[in-house]
Amino acid sequence: MSIWNFANPQLKDLVAYEPGKPIEDVARELGLKPEDIIKLASNENPLGPSPKAIDAMRDAVKDVHIYPDGASYRLRQALAEKFDLEMGNLIIGCGSNEIIEFIGHAFLQPGDNIITAKHAFLVYKLMAKVFGAETIEIDDPGYVHDLDAMAAAITPRTKKIFIANPNNPTGTLVTQDQIDRFMAKVPDHVVVVFDEAYYEFLDNPPDTLKYVRQGRNVVVLRTFSKIQGLAGTRVGYGIANKELIDILQRTRQPFNINSIAQAGALAGLHDQEHQDKTKKITDEGRAYLQAQFGDMGLEYIPSYANFVLVKVGDGNAVFKSMMARGIIVRAMAAYKLPEWVRISVGTMPQNEKCIEVLRQVLGK
Ligand SMILES: *Cc1c(COP(=O)(O)O)cnc(C)c1O
Repeated sequence: MSIWNFANPQLKDLVAYEPGKPIEDVARELGLKPEDIIKLASNENPLGPSPKAIDAMRDAVKDVHIYPDGASYRLRQALAEKFDLEMGNLIIGCGSNEIIEFIGHAFLQPGDNIITAKHAFLVYKLMAKVFGAETIEIDDPGYVHDLDAMAAAITPRTKKIFIANPNNPTGTLVTQDQIDRFMAKVPDHVVVVFDEAYYEFLDNPPDTLKYVRQGRNVVVLRTFSKIQGLAGTRVGYGIANKELIDILQRTRQPFNINSIAQAGALAGLHDQEHQDKTKKITDEGRAYLQAQFGDMGLEYIPSYANFVLVKVGDGNAVFKSMMARGIIVRAMAAYKLPEWVRISVGTMPQNEKCIEVLRQVLGK
């Protein structure tokens, strides 16, 4: 008898998350040199990490025989100071993705449901499935979350609503007014998760921390993976009222953030210059990519983040053809967007090379 007969039944039709194709894989499969490949598939920082973070991580290496600070004390303290909150308002995760899992551990049981937008980040739905919960997906006209419809879909078994702002993969934003109107309708039994992985790329970001300060059941997720350029170290954080953080803290492993990652994140946090530089090249690169898509007559979704979704016809075929020419972008079939690819903003030379290859592939 197969071991599947004893596994949790909801896992049978769970399709594991497929990340952006790693450079090493492409090099191996296509016989290319890794240094000739440009990856614009996972919204990483093309400038790399802050030099200060690199120094701090190098320093931290000599102490790796010691267990890390399980409470991530210094990092939580620095974040609390930055947001004028208390340490009890913060939890650190192995990427903000881990906090999505904590919230599942804390609140989801088989038969519960979560609400997301139709084209939301896939991890919400995958994690819900792990816990045997159902995902209610709400249409997003114009690829923007419809918060009124999401509030209207709440049932007594709704435990969480995910709002990615800006959303990945669409790059769209919901406004402060839409958020405020939505929050006025959400009952207490629902935890609202604002996933703000791209928050630092916004010029006028909406304020969701005010709901944490008011004691509402809201978790704001941020990450060191994007503007900070520390995706490989896996550090993200959640901000919530203290009672909610206390619940989430009980669901995590004692040493979920390694000491090198803690040191890098702490140093990166204080390097505002690197973040400003990253935002600047992102703004320039995104404007360039969008102008080029327009020039090619391609439909694209104007983005608030460090990537752009563009309609190319057969997304998977374009992904493969570009990959064969050394440019890795992201095909979007798993997101119900088979005609689109998502392209991360790179350095200007990377963006130019990407456009050159896209023009070749599409014959434009
Ligand atoms: C990239 C991304 C994250 C970040 O995940 P980490 O686990 O912190 O690396 C979270 N949410 C969304 C929507 C993202 O695009």
